[in-house]
This record gives sequence, structure tokens and C-alpha cells, in this order.
Amino acid sequence: MTAIGFIGLGNMGRHMARNLVKAGHAVTVFDVVPAAVAAVVVTMLPAGPEVRQVYLDPAGIIARAKANTLLIDSSTIDVETARAVAKQAAAKGLAMLDAPVSGGVGGAEAGTLTFMIGGTESGFARAKPVLDAMGKTIVHAGPSGNGQVAKLCNNMLLAISMIGTCEAFGLAEKLGLKAETLFAIASKSTSQCWAMTSYCPAPGPVPTAPSNRGYAPGFTGAMMLKDLKLAQQAAIAVGAATPMGAEAAALYGLHCAHGGAPKDFSGIMEWLQRQG
Ligand code: NAD
Repeated sequence: MTAIGFIGLGNMGRHMARNLVKAGHAVTVFDVVPAAVAAVVVTMLPAGPEVRQVYLDPAGIIARAKANTLLIDSSTIDVETARAVAKQAAAKGLAMLDAPVSGGVGGAEAGTLTFMIGGTESGFARAKPVLDAMGKTIVHAGPSGNGQVAKLCNNMLLAISMIGTCEAFGLAEKLGLKAETLFAIASKSTSQCWAMTSYCPAPGPVPTAPSNRGYAPGFTGAMMLKDLKLAQQAAIAVGAATPMGAEAAALYGLHCAHGGAPKDFSGIMEWLQRQG
């Protein structure tokens, strides 16, 4: 049993904390002060500014944590903040990991999240038994910030492949080819991808996809837009050419501004169809 402080009991965090309790850990929730005296602190916060506040405030976790406390931030945040906060933690002798997740609220509830970890080998080894209670796939992506890099790159590619899948199914429909027929061919051909085979944005071919329940989330358009903006911020910072990622960010921005924010991100299918 490990004494764990958990901060950020929102849509994701409340399920993750429950799975830690189920695995027999002693979990303190809500408050920075009691949470900071635990052996491990897990945070699941909205974005970079909240992470900076909770960790770097003069009365925050880094100031209050006892020696040897392991800090795990599972929020999806910008790479720069992840590296800056971990550096401040290291300056106080504290190991800190960025540990963003994929798998959504369903994965958080079922304890099947994928964790992408940035930080030291020894920090990763200490975190692994804790993360095992909340996730199924736990990958060490390299030094500090690399967990966020993996998350942003994965979601940028997901958004691009989702928009491409929407375009292909929208075009097929207009040309008189049924979604089921295109799916039967394309899902076994060179264009197959997760956005099509597991999450088809056209209603019909994949019964479990949000497209068959009015695009109820799932993973919202707003969350995808957030991740695409973080990817663009990171790309600009290092001078990487990501024109498709930039286009995806612009399209999700328009989609969200026209009612798509609370729907599943595959709902961009409806928005694209309205443009034609
Ligand atoms: P959420 O808004 O439901 O939860 C965030 C929680 O943090 C809230 O309970 C809020 O009260 C708390 N909080 C905010 N500021 C705080 C502060 N200063 N001190 C203490 N608590 C504070 O968000 P969520 O959906 O649980 O997402 C959390 C993180 O996980 C985000 O970074 C998000 O991008 C990422 N994420 C979410 C999903 C998803 O499907 N919801 C999937 C993958 C990753």
C-alpha cells in the first residue's frame, strides 16, 4: 500500500482515484496541503496554468512535499510547462513525471488507460505499480516532457486521420456509394486507420462508434481542439513543419465555434457535410 495524494477529481480524475483505492492504496483527495505529505502525488488538472499553480505556488506541492515524494502529473499540458515544472521539482530533489493518458473517461473508469511517461528511469520504476492500478498500457517515452510530446503527436495524427476519413465517407455518399460498402473495401485496403475501423464517423459501419448515438462523447471536439493547439504551440517552438496539423486545428476551431465543442470529436463529420 502506498500513501497517494490525488488532486483534480474531474471527469477523469475521480475514476482514476477510485481505481487506486480499489487497488488498496491510501488515497487523500482534494487538498494540496494533505496531499503533499503523501509518498506519491498524482494530479489530473485542466491545463498548464493550473499545473503551474498547484506545483509552483509558494504554498504548492513542490514547496510542501517531503523528501522523496514522487510527483506524477497526468494532465495534458504544453511540453514547456511539463519540462519547467519537472526542473523545479528536480531542483528540490523531487522526481516528477509527466504522465498524460489516452483512453478517455471510459478508460479511466475501467482502469484501462494508456499512460505516456516522461521522466527518469528510476521515477518510472517507482511510478509503475501506482499507474498499473489505473491503466493497461504504460510506456516510458524518455526524459521529462516526452510523455506530453507522445500525446500531442498521437492526437494530432488522430485528428488528421479523422478529418480525412470524414472527407472520404462524405464524398462517397455524395457520389452514391454507401458507407457500409466503402467501409467493407477501405477497412481492408491501404487507407485503413483507427478513425475508420474502430470509430467510423459515418453512422452504420461500426455499431459502437459515437456516430451511431448522435456523436455523444467519447472524446469531445473541445478536447481535441485543445490538444491540436498544444501541438501547434510545440511545433512553432521547435520550427517543425506541421501544415496538416495546422489545418486540423483551424477546422476543429470552426467546428467547435459552430456547436461541435461538446460533441464527440468525430462529429466534425456533420460540420463538413454542412459545408458542401
Ligand atoms: P475536468 O475539468 O473534468 O477536471 C479537472 C479537475 O481539476 C476539476 O475537478 C477541477 O475542479 C480541478 N481543478 C482545477 N484547477 C484546480 C486547482 N488549481 N487545484 C485543484 N484542483 C483543480 O477535466 P478532465 O476531463 O478530468 O481532464 C483532466 C485532464 O485530462 C485534462 O488535461 C485533459 O486534457 C486530460 N484528458 C481528458 C480526457 C477526457 O476524455 N476527459 C482524455 C484524455 C486526457
